[in-house]
Order: sequence, then structure tokens, then C-alpha cells
Amino acid sequence: MSVRVRFAPSPTGYLHVGGLRTALYNYLFARHHGGKCILRIEDTDRTRFVEGATENLISSLRWAGVEFDESPEKGGDYGSYIQSERFELYRKYAQELLDRDAAYYAFDTAEELDAMRERMQNAGIAPRYDRTVMRNQYTLGEVETKRLLAEDAQRVIRLKVPLAGEVRFDDIVRGTITVPARDVDDQILLKSDNFPTYHLANIVDDHLMAITHVIRGEEWLPSTPKHVLLYDALGWERPKFAHLPLLLNPDKSKLSKRQGDVAVEDYREKGYFKETMVNFVALLGWNPSADREIFSMQELIDSFKLEKVNKAGAVFDIQKLDWMNGEYLRSKPLDELTEQFLPMAQHAGFTASKEYMCDVVGLLRERVTKLNEIPAFGTYMFTAPTEFEEEYKAKFWTPAMAEPIQELAKRLEASDFAADTINAVAKDYAKESGIKVGVFMNLLRLAVTGKSVGASMIHTMEILGKQESINRIAYFLKAQE
Ligand code: GLU
Repeated sequence: MSVRVRFAPSPTGYLHVGGLRTALYNYLFARHHGGKCILRIEDTDRTRFVEGATENLISSLRWAGVEFDESPEKGGDYGSYIQSERFELYRKYAQELLDRDAAYYAFDTAEELDAMRERMQNAGIAPRYDRTVMRNQYTLGEVETKRLLAEDAQRVIRLKVPLAGEVRFDDIVRGTITVPARDVDDQILLKSDNFPTYHLANIVDDHLMAITHVIRGEEWLPSTPKHVLLYDALGWERPKFAHLPLLLNPDKSKLSKRQGDVAVEDYREKGYFKETMVNFVALLGWNPSADREIFSMQELIDSFKLEKVNKAGAVFDIQKLDWMNGEYLRSKPLDELTEQFLPMAQHAGFTASKEYMCDVVGLLRERVTKLNEIPAFGTYMFTAPTEFEEEYKAKFWTPAMAEPIQELAKRLEASDFAADTINAVAKDYAKESGIKVGVFMNLLRLAVTGKSVGASMIHTMEILGKQESINRIAYFLKAQE
């Protein structure tokens, strides 16, 4: 049996990082097994419909490099991949469930349901539909049910959950799960407006689309007993289930929108590489190796194993994300980075040759975690400083240093100004003058960049060039007079 998996988002606005992980694990699993990965849009809840949300989801997934073999765009052999275009099918199977006595009509009003919930809460019972007392086809009887249906009374179709016994299923991540049937609610399958709920549409499509493995977040685990009852009632083979661990904030609370950014597009906008996002998100709940953190998509595909996914929640650690982005920033080809940097430089109003931009990126990527931090961090690579960090200056500058700096500048001006030469000249002169080479370097940094932190000073000067560097030193000395 060849593997078929699906990512089945509800388009409610944006791609959550947890959604990216689910999509990615489905993709890795499919590619690892040479199977198919399907994108299905679950938009049955029309009250939650957000204009443009599907396009937005697809564009974030495409950016990350998660590809689908069948999707609303590509199509496939299984009809529409958008649930709102498949409503007839769900109605058909709701009828079949009625025929098999696995589902039933219920006619309760919202007020009646509220009253039932209140009664149960007061009695200290977890609220669930009580079909032995509520207004449904069992309590009303056949004649009254027929009459109500004939007059098209408001009604829903509910799942008939066994009143006793257990619901049992296997989960690849969690092992066998057993739930007492009395804890499973008589879920509404078809709403009063004839629209299916997620549960009905989801299992109908997973079956009709020949899905072999359902890989999804842990928040769907409580729905699974209802799903397996539906598969069994329809006489369908159950898919295999794998529920992925929750994503947590560092304080172990559930990762939510309120606590910071959870939309993939926000991370993209902030300047994280897609390779970083994929690598980082892949390791939320699984790690192919104990002694490595950096993996390419192909490496992730090669080593992906659902059995190795953890049960425990995975902490979303921004510091690790930043570290990882820095790793990619330092290992990516410079010309690729330069291409990406050019519009950022332009936006900041910096002009220079492409070679110069390339040198700047090569130098400053050692000191930042994202490419887009370079313009602010390294403004001095494009404009001469006119202000010098006071605190830093107070530490190293005395008027007595004016002459030695001038002398050093003179010697540097006479050199070829390569980084190694700058280093050697400064060292020699330090020895000769009895002034520590570190003091010289700090003052050169202050004069040339105006700042206390930056990349290697000798390389900064080499890239800026002899004339520019010497001019800056002269300006600094003049400003101290
Ligand atoms: N539509 C559900 C969601 O938004 C899909 C859950 C599942 O994969 O079954 O996540």
C-alpha cells in the first residue's frame, strides 16, 4: 500500500508555525516513503471564512518548500480538494450513517441545549448530549420524527456513540489509546443548515482520498475517538494516526498568538531564511541525531521517522531560532546573500558596487543573525561617522594619543593596506611606542566606525579602503581638538 498523507488546514487567516510543522512532517513522511502528499482545504465552517486566507497559506507553504502532489491548484484524481465544493458527498454519507443506525436526528433548540448543559454542570458532570432525555428520534418516536421531518423542522444529525464500553485506537506516537465511550459526545455531524461539521467532512475525505496516515497536532486527539467510530460505522478501514506534540512557550504554556508571533509570514518578513524555518520547525518534536542541529530538507527526508516523534510538548525557543539563522547566514553562498541584500541596502539609501556589497555582507554576517540587520549594524560601511560613542571614547581616548594615532595612520597610509599588513604595522608600532596594540585597535575602531562593536577591525578597514579610512581617522582627530 503506498503512502498517502494530507495537510488539511482550515483557512482562518495565516499559516501558524504549528501548521508548518504538521505540513512539513506530512511532506517528509510522504517523500521518505515515496508516497503522495496532499493539500486539502477544510473550509466547512463558513462563519470562520477569511478572504484570501487560502492563498496566504499556500504562499507560505510554497515559500518554505513544502510541495504537494495533489492540491486545489494542481488537482488530482479525487475531485475537488476544497471541502466547500464537496458538500453533496458529506450529506450522502450522513444519510448512510442514519440508515446504518450510527447517527440520528435531533431537534433540540439552542435554549434546550443550554438548559441541558446547565443541569449537567450543576450536577458536576462534564456536559455532553444526553440522548436518553433530549428531543431526538429515539425519545420522540418514529411517527413524531417523521412528522417533524415532513414539516422540515430545524434539526441536526448526531453521531450515535455507544452508551457503554470503550473506544480504542492506535497512535504511532502515543501507542494504544483507550477512552470510555461515555466520555465521547454525540457529536453533531450535519448542522441545521445542512453543512457538515469538521468531523464528518474530515473522515469522508480521508477515506475517499485514500489517506493512509493521519498526521496532525495533538489538539485533534480528543476528536479521534469520534472519527474511529465513524470509520467503523461506515465499514471503512481506519487510517493510521500520529498526533504530534504541542508547541509550547518557554514557560511551558501553549504557544498562542497572544504571546508573540506564530504566523510563518511574520518570521519570513522579519528576515529568517526558509531553510532556518524548515530546519527549526522540523526539530520541534523530533531530532534525527543526538549531536547535530543543522539539516537540509533532503537530510530531513532521508531520516524522517514517525516512530521517533516525541510525546512531550516542544518548546519554541526564539534564541535557538536566531542562532540557527546565524548558522545559515554564515554558511550560505555569498553571492546569493548579496543578491538578497541589494534591495535592503537600497532601501536604506546605501549605494556601492556589487563587489563592495559582497565584501560588506561577507564581513558583517559574522556579527548578526539576520541579513536585514546589516544596514543598521553596519551603517558605517556606507557613511562616515560624525559621532563617536562617548562611553567608549572615555575608556580609550586621551589627548596624548593624538600623536601616536597620527603616526600610525601615516605608516598605514604608506602600506598596501591589506588586512594582514594593517595588523603587522599596528603591532610593530605598538612595540616601538610601548602602547598596547589593543588600545590602537580600539581607537581605530572608534575613529573609523564611531562604535564600540563591529566586525574584525583590520578587515573593516581593508574593505573601506585606504583613502576612506585615513580620512576618517583625520576627521576624528580634528573633532577632538
Ligand atoms: N481542518 C483541521 C485543521 O484546521 C484539520 C485537522 C486534521 O488534520 O484532521 O487543522
